Amino acid sequence: MNKTVRDRRALMHVGPVTIELDVLLAGVKENVGFSSREFVDAMSSSLKGLRKIMGAPHYQSFIIPGGGTSAMESVVSMLKKGDKVLVVSNGVFGDRWLNIFKRYGVSVDSLKAEAGDYVKPEIVEEAVKKNSYTMVTLTHVETSTGVREPVKEVTKRIRDLVQLIVVDGVASVAGEEMRAEEWGIDVVLTASQKALGCPPGAGLLVASPKAVSRISQDMLGGYYLHLSNWLEIMRSLEDGKASYFATLPVHLAFMLAKAFDLIEQEGLENRLKRHEIVGGAIRSGVEAMGLSLVAKEPSTYSNTVTGVKLSKVDPSKVLSSMDEAGIELAPGVHPALAGRYVRIGHMGWITPNDAISTIATLERILHSLGEQVKLGDGVRATQQYLTENIL
Ligand code: PMP
Repeated sequence: MNKTVRDRRALMHVGPVTIELDVLLAGVKENVGFSSREFVDAMSSSLKGLRKIMGAPHYQSFIIPGGGTSAMESVVSMLKKGDKVLVVSNGVFGDRWLNIFKRYGVSVDSLKAEAGDYVKPEIVEEAVKKNSYTMVTLTHVETSTGVREPVKEVTKRIRDLVQLIVVDGVASVAGEEMRAEEWGIDVVLTASQKALGCPPGAGLLVASPKAVSRISQDMLGGYYLHLSNWLEIMRSLEDGKASYFATLPVHLAFMLAKAFDLIEQEGLENRLKRHEIVGGAIRSGVEAMGLSLVAKEPSTYSNTVTGVKLSKVDPSKVLSSMDEAGIELAPGVHPALAGRYVRIGHMGWITPNDAISTIATLERILHSLGEQVKLGDGVRATQQYLTENIL
């Protein structure tokens, strides 16, 4: 196929994802200094925009270098020696918390779900009642499986029993409903390359007044990601005043500001609905092809990530053929399902047309690779779903 045409690739990945042209263009600029008006304005509006999409009008916003992992690691600066943490893990990214806390000598217990499943709210409640935890960490959407944890319900059950509830919203924020303040979550974090639809490079988080009150130089943590080093910087930048601790990704700040602008224009509710529709359309197509989803319970199907089990064909062949055909999917990364699934990311700027082209291409590729798929079944179901759900 013509090379130029083939290079126009759709990124139906779990992050980074396809970037909207206006967002991309917002980053095409000469370098500017960290004290320039343009940079300070971009940070200020992004910090404000972040609070809105997190449903956290009275929380402190942070935008720090790195990504989801740096935002996760920064949370250590809310803990002191001797504090106990409960990690609720539904997969690879839930487990990441264990590795982070281990580095800092934090005492950790964990609850783990089987691949495709989630730790039930009552199990979390039971564990929290038996112990005295300073912090509980939850993963809103576990990207390795596409399973969504009911964080609102878990929080309701444990709110009065622990000091801090921290939610990894890396694969959910801006694609799934998040009302941090109303639900009583202290910290929600995400990364720029996910449903915000920007390039990688920043970790973003909001923290409740209680969480902020714990941030001090006496707490655990390293240097670069210690939130005590970033707190005043973020407050100044949000107030429109230049401030420096370490250099932030300048161009990314412009792109984030544009993304928050576009989210405001679209309306958060509409954005979430768009994710729900595209996610639903993709799942309908996948199931109509006779394939099963990694996520076991429909109530936990996320609107941002779908894990698709393959019965016959080698997932790496599916990924490379999809790539050749112009659509990049993500590999399966959960060790318990190694070599048995692929993931479709549907977050950011995705549209119903992306659902149609992804399902159409996937069924053609699977058919050609020998999976028992009847051409047209997936697309018909996707079309049917869209017909019934687009107003
Ligand atoms: N948590 C979740 C739920 C994620 O999906 C990811 C990235 N896939 C991370 C944390 C880590 O983010 P990053 O790769 O940006 O450090």
